[in-house]
Amino acid sequence: MTYQNIVVPADGQKITCLGEAGCIPDNPIIAFIEGDGIGRDIMTASRRIWDAAVEKSYGGQRKIAWMEIYAGEKAAKVYDGDYMPQETFDALREFLVGIKGPLTTPVGGGFRSLNVTLRQVLDLYSCVRPVRWYPGVPSPMREPDKVDMVIFRENTEDVYAGIEYEAGTPENEKLTRFLREEMGATFFEGSGLGIKPISAFGTKRLMRSALRYAIQRGRKSISIMHKGNIQKYTEGAFRNWCYELARDEFGDYTITEDELWDQYGGKQPEGRILIKDRIADIIFQHMLLRPAEFDVIIAPNLNGDYLSDALAAQVGGVGIAPGANIGDDVMLFEATHGTAPKYTDLDKVNPGSLMFSGVMMLEFMGWQEAADLVRDGYTRTLAQKVVTYDFARQTDGATEVKTSEFATAIINNMNV
Ligand code: NAP
Repeated sequence: MTYQNIVVPADGQKITCLGEAGCIPDNPIIAFIEGDGIGRDIMTASRRIWDAAVEKSYGGQRKIAWMEIYAGEKAAKVYDGDYMPQETFDALREFLVGIKGPLTTPVGGGFRSLNVTLRQVLDLYSCVRPVRWYPGVPSPMREPDKVDMVIFRENTEDVYAGIEYEAGTPENEKLTRFLREEMGATFFEGSGLGIKPISAFGTKRLMRSALRYAIQRGRKSISIMHKGNIQKYTEGAFRNWCYELARDEFGDYTITEDELWDQYGGKQPEGRILIKDRIADIIFQHMLLRPAEFDVIIAPNLNGDYLSDALAAQVGGVGIAPGANIGDDVMLFEATHGTAPKYTDLDKVNPGSLMFSGVMMLEFMGWQEAADLVRDGYTRTLAQKVVTYDFARQTDGATEVKTSEFATAIINNMNV
């Protein structure tokens, strides 16, 4: 395919399949979206760190060929006002793997979230967010080392599906009439209306990917987070479909809590993943009081969104929480925080969230040595109390450095 503004690196090779051994060439083309606000600072710093780790791990035998693609404010400049050019979708579909910085979304009007659009158009249905603590990271928890979880958040359905009708519009009035007159619903005059679709198809494919992940990584349990006691036919159904999928497709690998007690006296058998479910509100309490009881967590879109940020706070905040949006055909790794516009181009913020999203990407590529090297460099840098402003304000005796200086310190601390 030819592109108008995207330059395909001549020295790179295309990734042609996902999830199978041998799919990743030594010079894979990886697409990147710089992002708005702090995006430029954290992308520049993170690319330096990833490139250094790859270089130090493989001595030039492997190298990422970076290909810039555009979304958000930079796209509007390059594509004459178009914030989400078609080429961006085409390039991700052709090159399969990408990584992105944060993108601005206006509140209560303007255009629809570019992040949500990317997830929906490319059908990136699993939002995967590992949450774990690194020594030296300031945490409000007494025992942050007990936090080691991976959230699988549904990414395409729920109230994020964009089926919303503003109060006072003809569409809203039409739906109001239908709900009141034909369905017997009662609600206040002038209500805004939103629809919450949750399907068996959407739920089961997410549960399938969570189970495959849990099996591959030797995880012990999957907790289904839902508010099914109130929203019976959406979140309650989500819970039921998750159990159904585990039983029908992964019966040899899973057990439920009932089976655990009825058949195994409460002792989890080797090689079986425990499937349990917890109501959304109590899970927030359990996360703080008994984090060790949670491993993989699967959640509908909105619950998963709240939970991801709350959990990130336990291990250092959104400044270091990584994430990936994964579909059957495309993977897009991303910083989980926003554009923090007040820090734009100040070379100040923590690049950790994007950097660790890149670590997830390196692991997916099978480049484990490079992924480990980034972690080593990071851990050593933190042990020296060299940190960006966000950690500096929570760490006694810290040396506060700029984003770029933090990246340099990590690179210098990568000991092969
Ligand atoms: P935000 O950009 O995440 O920033 C909120 C606060 O989090 C910042 O003011 C800062 O806290 C802290 N923070 C964020 N990133 C940090 C980093 N890398 N290092 C250290 N601290 C960091 O959230 P927002 O202000 O609600 O949203 C701003 C814009 O981003 C909105 O347009 C929103 O829609 C968009 N957004 C995009 C994404 C995405 O692209 N995936 C996600 C969320 C939000 P302090 O002020 O305490 O220093």
